[in-house]
Amino acid sequence: MADKKQRAKERFEALAYDKKNYFEEASKKERKEMYAYAEGYKAFLNAAKTEREACETAVAMAQAKGFTEYRFGDPLAAGDKKYFINRGKSVVVFRIGTNDLETDGMRIIASHIDAPRVDIKQNPLYEDSGLCFFKTHYYGGIKKYQWTAIPLALHGVVVLKDGTRVEMKVGEDPKDPVFYIDDLLPHLGADQMLQKGGKIIEGEQLNVVVGGLPCADGEAGKRIKLTVLDYLNKEYGMCEEDFLSAELSAVPAYPARDVGFDRALIGAYGHDDRVCAYPALTAVLDEPSEHTVLAMLVDKEEIGSEGTTGMQCKVYEDLMEEIAIALGANFRRVRFASKCLSSDVTAAYDPNFAGVYEKMNAAILSCGTCMSKFTGSRGKSGSNDASAEFVGEVRRMFEKEGVIWQTAELGKVDAGGGGTVAKFLANLNIDTVDLGVPVISMHAPYELISKADLYSNYKAFLAFMK
Ligand code: MN
Ligand code: MN
Repeated sequence: MADKKQRAKERFEALAYDKKNYFEEASKKERKEMYAYAEGYKAFLNAAKTEREACETAVAMAQAKGFTEYRFGDPLAAGDKKYFINRGKSVVVFRIGTNDLETDGMRIIASHIDAPRVDIKQNPLYEDSGLCFFKTHYYGGIKKYQWTAIPLALHGVVVLKDGTRVEMKVGEDPKDPVFYIDDLLPHLGADQMLQKGGKIIEGEQLNVVVGGLPCADGEAGKRIKLTVLDYLNKEYGMCEEDFLSAELSAVPAYPARDVGFDRALIGAYGHDDRVCAYPALTAVLDEPSEHTVLAMLVDKEEIGSEGTTGMQCKVYEDLMEEIAIALGANFRRVRFASKCLSSDVTAAYDPNFAGVYEKMNAAILSCGTCMSKFTGSRGKSGSNDASAEFVGEVRRMFEKEGVIWQTAELGKVDAGGGGTVAKFLANLNIDTVDLGVPVISMHAPYELISKADLYSNYKAFLAFMK
């Protein structure tokens, strides 16, 4: 009898599927590698809080590994290590492989380097009641109330009247001042606390405090504004009109930090989607491949992938076509043979908000990078639904290299949803599936991820490039 029970247990173990916690599965050596890899990632996060900075940092990392700039029309040959910069806001880092491009295609990893934040308006500066503010218009899907009463840094560029481009980055150095969006004290917050979440702080209340010191000889009501204008003029050579041609963003001023006594987790601004962009970048930088491999780090995902730097722009298709032409390959055939991992974050199951998840199909923290066969909302609408055949192919790649990974949907079927850049690549006739790191508190000023999932994502990309 006991024998029968034992056999049933063994049969069950052989037939049934369960997710595995990567920390538990990893050897001591591999765990060390996870933690070491996380150090490089945190440095990247701190250096790259905007898409411009992410692009610049990625280029510097590529150069350090012997990659050189590619421009349309340049010749290409097997073994070439290149990067292509698109308007300083997106970058494609790529290696030309030894395999025939027409039959082997490209291996593409696409992720994004923009993140939700609070952008400064074109006519932003005003003074009121002892304070000086910037008006803002937020970028991406944020819970507005989360962005008040925290230290903010200003990042961006100003193009002056004469065309000179000046960069601004204030609030990151410990000696810098920071900026601040105020909130109401609870003592007077009775009405505010009755509001729906989206109305607790409204868009026009997201005004950033930028000064408070009146200039002695200024006109009443404009003295603090004059102090700020004087400072900006001295520091950046700008006058108020130059805000018209500026791109300034307020982002959380705090650096990435380990979270927890065991340091298993990382808290940071902008894990979405740098936690995929950094592994994509480092995989292509670190490992030669027989395949032609591309890490696409793109902009504007958070507002619909539009514009000249978003994934919907023809520039990425043009680049792929230019590569095909340079290698004498037919682009249509190259696309058909190509494969893509659309690498964006997904929601990690959060036990404090269990109601919105369906646990069997939710991403569990530390169980590895997460494949989403489809995204979308309410009946998979707006999703690239990857085929079982392609999912099976990627599954075998991961299996072969011992990658710990999982699959999930964002949340309960009727709870909401989201989309990624996957469909834009799939529209090019490239088999594509979503794969990315589970995140807790996605789109908050400080998001949470697991070091195991970060490293699993990197290992998954390496396996995809094999
Ligand atoms: Mn994302
Ligand atoms: Mn996002």
